[in-house]
Amino acid sequence: MSRFEPGSSISYEKMHENISIVRRRLSRPLTLSEKIVYGHLDDPAGQEIDRGRTYLRLRPDRVAMQDATAQMAMLQFISSGLPKVAVPSTIHCDHLIEAQVGGVQDLQRAKEINEEVYNFLATAAARYGVGFWKPGSGIIHQIILENYAYPGVMLIGTDSHTPNGGGLGGVCIGVGGADAVDVMAGIPWELKCPKVCISLCLISLDHIISTFILSLATFLHKGGLFYKCFPARVVFPQVIGVRLTGTLSGWTSPKDIILKVAGILTVKGGTGAIVEYHGPGVDSISCTGMATICNMGAEIGATTSVFPYNHRMKTYLKKTGREEIASVADEFKEDLVPDEGCEYDQVIEVNLSELKPHINGPFTPDLAHPVSEIGAVAKKNGWPLEVKVGLIGSCTNSSYEDMGRAASLAKQALDQGLKCKAQFTITPGSEQIRATIERDGYAKILSDVGGVVLANACGPCIGQWDRRDVKKGEKNTIVTSFNRNFTARNDANPATHAFVTSPEIVTAFALAGTLSFNPETDYLIAPSGEKFKLEPPTGDELPSRGFDPGQDTYQHPPAESSSVKVDVSPSSNRLQLLEPFDKWNGKDLENMRVLIKVKGKCTTDHISAAGPWLKFRGHLDNISNNLLIGAVNIENNAVNKVKNQLTGEYGGVPDVARFYRANGVNWVVVGDENYGEGSSREHAALEPRHLGGRAIIVKSFARIHETNLKKQGLLPLTFANPSDYDKIRPDDKISIIGLKSFAPGKPLTAVIKHADGSEESVSLNHTFNETQIEWFKAGSALNRMKELQ
Ligand code: SF4
Repeated sequence: MSRFEPGSSISYEKMHENISIVRRRLSRPLTLSEKIVYGHLDDPAGQEIDRGRTYLRLRPDRVAMQDATAQMAMLQFISSGLPKVAVPSTIHCDHLIEAQVGGVQDLQRAKEINEEVYNFLATAAARYGVGFWKPGSGIIHQIILENYAYPGVMLIGTDSHTPNGGGLGGVCIGVGGADAVDVMAGIPWELKCPKVCISLCLISLDHIISTFILSLATFLHKGGLFYKCFPARVVFPQVIGVRLTGTLSGWTSPKDIILKVAGILTVKGGTGAIVEYHGPGVDSISCTGMATICNMGAEIGATTSVFPYNHRMKTYLKKTGREEIASVADEFKEDLVPDEGCEYDQVIEVNLSELKPHINGPFTPDLAHPVSEIGAVAKKNGWPLEVKVGLIGSCTNSSYEDMGRAASLAKQALDQGLKCKAQFTITPGSEQIRATIERDGYAKILSDVGGVVLANACGPCIGQWDRRDVKKGEKNTIVTSFNRNFTARNDANPATHAFVTSPEIVTAFALAGTLSFNPETDYLIAPSGEKFKLEPPTGDELPSRGFDPGQDTYQHPPAESSSVKVDVSPSSNRLQLLEPFDKWNGKDLENMRVLIKVKGKCTTDHISAAGPWLKFRGHLDNISNNLLIGAVNIENNAVNKVKNQLTGEYGGVPDVARFYRANGVNWVVVGDENYGEGSSREHAALEPRHLGGRAIIVKSFARIHETNLKKQGLLPLTFANPSDYDKIRPDDKISIIGLKSFAPGKPLTAVIKHADGSEESVSLNHTFNETQIEWFKAGSALNRMKELQ
């Protein structure tokens, strides 16, 4: 499977067998996404495939974790009591390195600041059989592409841009830590099949039209008109086909494809879908270019994006030392490309020959503009025209090709004696890229033109940027080759107008220092006073002399690891080993207090805030001090202010929860619609359980959060009659009755005792299945896992 894991092999035979079974069941051509997903079904013959209802139980090939999310994932895995991970897994130290002065010094500082986190991850990885990529090794997705992704792989990663691996033909999906723990523990992983397959062919449609036609088609479909076309319809994540025709050339690059698609579909248009690229234009894109496109698919909400196996992937596999994988992939090529005649839910066509360079932003990655128009648009909107900083690199755009094309522009400027007008930073995606661009002279050119080469890490892309050239609140413009540009993401300054574009265009803007520069038509002025025009960028797809691996930054887990001690200091502020949650005592849960009755929207951000709290991700007790501090209390319309019913005083939500726990009083949260929407962060479920919560009773749940609550041994329950939400008062005592005969599909009852002595009962629904009920009884899914060993 990888040169680092000689003992693990790719099972294309198994995937082929699974696909054949499902193909017989469905009797119709399959998209590539379907082939890869069905190729990883736990039980292809018995798996219920029922539209809009069932969850596919899948067996991913591997797991990848970045250092920020790996902390809680590994802590949970440790508490499962399992001796080793069940599938090949890796940890990557990339998110915690702050850009300040330059690669070497910044890396050294990060190693000192994060020493205990790195030590914990390194020792936990060694103990439990996980590959560990040290700080300085590079960004998770670039390392996965270089070493672990392959055509047909199903990989899950605890980071939203895991789909980057789709550039090498894999279905790679970003998940929360709890999902990663399941897969590492050998439990099948669930992916919902949320939408009905209907067939439409919409060429170059914009979002409004597509939405309208899709609605119309769904309506027709419900009326049965499509029945004859699809006698064996299956439910699957909606598959959006992007058909590419023509050829990329000149200033246009792969990034422009996804910037264009983001403009069409918007940040919500790909929600819950897999985006599948196909068509004759695919062959004009390098493998790393395809990865750029898949990477940024996260910005349109896509579950993942994927390209079909082709000769560009084969070349990349060979250049990265994986010729054997390419040979086997050739043998199974039929399973690694879509079937002739397969149907997509929606098709967008992009003609690469007509595509123009794009730049998206500010503040949102779907606000697409042709580069030729951005100057005028910025002027009209009052966005600062002066480009303060140009930043290239990140997991999205840090390939050898990207760096080479950027360097080709820098070289033209240097030849004229011109340097960047704006500040300019370069983030190599991996140690291998850094060493190779240094050997081949690109790093020197980029430095000579005024650039600063930063550490091989996320840096400014995730806000790890000690920016000093503007004050907080000062309006300014930056241009990056990253993927996200939401408010304050890069530098914590809400007044920074961040735009995303290709590395080539970033370089051109850094040279010109203004958004009103159009490199295709405008001239730069050399110090001599002479005008010159930049020629379109050029660069080798891959290094002709092969990659220079650079420093060895990988730690392989030892064969014998039982004596490895996992390094967690009991006095640590940032790390804490998890204690197993208590088992259910076999009785109904009686007289619980209402910690908070939440009014309106309550996302996982409201439940477990991010920002400064992220440093406590590995310390459950410390991070629990953010529990529900963003939720609105219906009693007083205030945040983080609830009445302690034992003392009569008001306090912060976590403080009151801690008081109840210390006094042996169980509590519940009452919530509104779609409780727990947003990211899948598992802390939003761990924290209420840690502080003594037993049930979350709401009008409706976001599905992933509901499952996460079940995994931690809580009871996520919904009002059978949503208006019963109105019956709950802040000073009520609530008992959950019926737990002794807890069974799938059988409602429970809440007995509500009001402070005035009156009492009433309401019916509560749940979605627990048999397995999940065992989680509740054991105290958590991990406890149950331990019981079964
Ligand atoms: S470089 Fe940016 S987008 Fe990529 S993994 Fe790091 S933070 Fe995420």
